Amino acid sequence: MKLEILKQAVLDSRDGITISDNLVDDNPLIFVNPAFERMTGYSSEEITNVNCRYLQNDDREQPELRVVKNAIKAGQYCLVIVRNYRKDGTMFWNELSISPIYDANGVVTNFIGIQKDVTARVLIQQQLRDENQSLAEIRVNLEQLAIKDGLTGIYNRRFFDMQLEIQWGIARRNNEPLTLIMIDVDHFKQFNDIYGHNAGDNALKRIADSLNKSFLRSSDFVARYGGEEFVVLSVGMTQAQAALFSATLCQRVRDLGIPHSASSTGYITVSIGFSVHAFVTHDHSSVLLGRADKSLYAAKQRGRDQSFSL
Ligand code: GH3
Ligand code: MG
Ligand code: MG
Repeated sequence: MKLEILKQAVLDSRDGITISDNLVDDNPLIFVNPAFERMTGYSSEEITNVNCRYLQNDDREQPELRVVKNAIKAGQYCLVIVRNYRKDGTMFWNELSISPIYDANGVVTNFIGIQKDVTARVLIQQQLRDENQSLAEIRVNLEQLAIKDGLTGIYNRRFFDMQLEIQWGIARRNNEPLTLIMIDVDHFKQFNDIYGHNAGDNALKRIADSLNKSFLRSSDFVARYGGEEFVVLSVGMTQAQAALFSATLCQRVRDLGIPHSASSTGYITVSIGFSVHAFVTHDHSSVLLGRADKSLYAAKQRGRDQSFSL
């Protein structure tokens, strides 16, 4: 098999993949893949050539950490679940396996680490164990994860802001275009006035759910940006693909068929502004937000229920 294909598999993996150098003092990481950067909030530049114990913060009294230490000392495989911390300080449960790589003389030269964020699963298990609840009663409090929006259950603004910085860095390095799509519900104040705030909340939930189901790639996601505004981040789309995708999102919301008597279509609609950034310049990620926001304003001016890009 071509080495290039193997490399692509590592770069595209949804699990974090790391390689450490066991021949250097303190076993520093010498490679981390984009999924690891997304999971931890650290960029590859920040964390290569140092030992990865910063992921533990001050939370070092975990028995599982001793298991990892012993496995490294013995040159053996191990699988553990440990509490780790993202760059912004939020905790996540990391299902971590490490496997030794031997050279021809039987010396361990490297460890390969595979890491999975299993926070949601661990929280469910904890609730089952600690509170002895029936499965039907289990409600994982997604806000506990600090990255989900309480009303709609999709990602929140905080998660989006963090991802924008990370994805911006990765896209620039890999020279891939990054697309930001801003979505704003049309005449939503009037909807609340006519149908009530509860109906408004329910409409937002249905819109969020519909947007959330529209994704083609695992790295794409939608977040609730503010009251009745949503934002999508997507890597690798061309301008034409982004235009098509945005138009599809408009249509999907219209097709929900949520009646809105003050709307010219008779139903709830959204306006969309999008911006595709190709990395020819060294701008800051805020230019992407600014351009999408201006495009959204233009879409409103042009009559709503449509997508637009300046
Ligand atoms: P436009 O087409 O220009 O976007 O008009 P609009 O009425 O949607 O815009 P405006 O920004 O004036 O109003 C947004 C409204 O969204 C105001 C507020 O009542 C409503 N809203 C914001 N967050 C929530 C929410 O969480 N629940 C409900 N029910 N309504 C919300
Ligand atoms: Mg708005
Ligand atoms: Mg609005």
